[in-house]
Amino acid sequence: MTIHYRIDVEDVHAHLFRVTLRVPRPASSQRLSLPVWIPGSYLVREFARHLSDLRAEQGSQPVPLRQLDKATWVAECAGRGELSVSALVYAFDTSVRCAFLDASRGFFNGTGLCLRVEGREAEPHRLQIGTLPRGWQVATAMPAVKADAAGRGVYEAADYDELVDHPFELGAFWRGRFGAHGVPHEFVVAGALPDFDGERLLADARRICEAQIAFWHGARKPKVAFDRYVFLLNTSEDGHGGLEHRASTALLSARRNLPQLGRAETSDGYADLLGLISHEYFHTWNVKRLRPAEFARYDYTQENYTELLWFFEGFTSYYDDLFLRRCGLIDTPRYLRLLSRTLTGVAGTPGREVQSVAEASFDAWVKYYRTDENTPNATISYYAKGSLVALALDLSLRRDGSSLDEVMRTLWSSSGGGPISEADIATALQRCGGRSYAKELAEWVHGRAELPLKGLLYSAGIEWQAQAPSPGSAARAARGRKCADRREGHACAARRCGGSGGHRRRR
Ligand SMILES: [Zn+2]
Repeated sequence: MTIHYRIDVEDVHAHLFRVTLRVPRPASSQRLSLPVWIPGSYLVREFARHLSDLRAEQGSQPVPLRQLDKATWVAECAGRGELSVSALVYAFDTSVRCAFLDASRGFFNGTGLCLRVEGREAEPHRLQIGTLPRGWQVATAMPAVKADAAGRGVYEAADYDELVDHPFELGAFWRGRFGAHGVPHEFVVAGALPDFDGERLLADARRICEAQIAFWHGARKPKVAFDRYVFLLNTSEDGHGGLEHRASTALLSARRNLPQLGRAETSDGYADLLGLISHEYFHTWNVKRLRPAEFARYDYTQENYTELLWFFEGFTSYYDDLFLRRCGLIDTPRYLRLLSRTLTGVAGTPGREVQSVAEASFDAWVKYYRTDENTPNATISYYAKGSLVALALDLSLRRDGSSLDEVMRTLWSSSGGGPISEADIATALQRCGGRSYAKELAEWVHGRAELPLKGLLYSAGIEWQAQAPSPGSAARAARGRKCADRREGHACAARRCGGSGGHRRRR
C-alpha cells in the first residue's frame, strides 16, 4: 500500500500550504505525528506549531482527531476505509530547515509538512504537487512517478525517512545541469539577478563533484552511492546556510556571492559559496551514509544525541575548503588565509578550555543551536575545532606515512557506507597509521588542551605567526561576520565570533 500526500499552494500572501494526507486501511486508532526536528540541524524546532485547521474524514464522514501531545494526534477511525487528513501549514521561514511560501517562491522539507503515519513508515510514500501559481516549476531529487517538463506531478519515496529527506523548491527559478562521472546533477538557483554567470557556477560545481566522487569511489568508473543529485540554492539580500540530504542539498547564500558575467575573479563571497557547496556535497557521504551509530534510525519525536559531530561536521569542514584547493578553485595563499581564520576563531574562543568537542557535539541541541552572550565563554564549535582536529590528525598521519584521506576511505569500506562509532574511527586510524591514536583522540577530542598545530604545521613546511590585533579589529569582530580580520591573541567577546560563530559557517 502507499501513503499519499498532496501539497497545494493555498494562499501565497498568507504563506499557507494545504497538505492532504490519504491513508489506505488505517488502524482503528491511527496515530499521526509531525517530527520535532529535521536531521542535520540539531535543535528541537517544534514544526507542529505551524499546523492548523487539522481535519480528518473517511468517505464524507468526519473522523474525530484526539491530540495526544504537542505533535501527535489519534484519528478514531470507523472501519478500514481510506482516511483523509488535511491541514494548513504556515510557511514563512527563510532558512533551509523549515518551509517558506510567498508570491515569489515556495520551499519545503517533508519534516514540516508531512504527518508521519505511525506503524506505516516502511511503506512507499507518494507526494503530489497540486495547485501552483502560474509559471512555477518544481525541483527535487525525489524520483518522479509522473511529472511534466516543469516538474509538476507525482513523486515517490521508498519510505517515510526518504520522503522527508527530499526538500522541494517551487517557483520561477534558474535551472542548469551537468554530469559528474556519469551521474546527472541539477543546479537550481532562486533569486538570481540577470548578470548571474550560471555556466561558471555549473563548471565550478562540477569540478568539486567530480573530485569528491573520485575521492570516495576512485576516478576510474566509480560506483557512486547515488544516481542523481540536485542543488537547491536560494539567494537573498543576506543569508548563509545549507542542509545536507541523501541526494540533494538546500543552500542559502547572499545574492552578491554569485559569480557575475564578465568578471573572472573569485570574490571572497564566491569562494565562500563554493566552500558551502563543497561542504554539503561531502556530507552526501559523510553523515548521510557514513553516519553516527545513533543515527542509524532517526527518532523524529525527540533529540537524537551523539558525541560524534566533531567528526561528521568538523571533518566535513576540513575537507570543504581543502577540496576547493585540490580542484584549483582557490590558490594556496587563499587556502592558508581561510585556515588561519579558523585557527584564529578557535584561539579567540575561551570556551575551548571549558568544553571538549565530544561534549560540544552531545550538547549541540541546547548549546550550539541556542547561542547567547555566554556562548563563547562556555562552548567550542565542533565545526571549527573539529576541522582543526582533522588537520592535526591528517598532519600526524602523513608523518606516519598515511593520510586522513586513507582513513576516510577505510571507514567507508569497513562500514559499507553505514553507521559507525568512535571505536571504528580509532580502528581505522590505527590500521592506516600503523599505531594507536588513542592518546590523540583522548586529548584532542575528549580533552580541552591546545592542539599541537604549530609544530605539526611547521613539520609540513608552514610557519605559524601570531600577530597583534590590528586597529579596528575589535570593531570588525564585534560586527561578527568578518572573523578573518581578527588576530591571534585578540579575545573576542562578541557573540557571533565565538562558539558557534567562531567558524564563519553555520550549517
Ligand atoms: Zn555540515
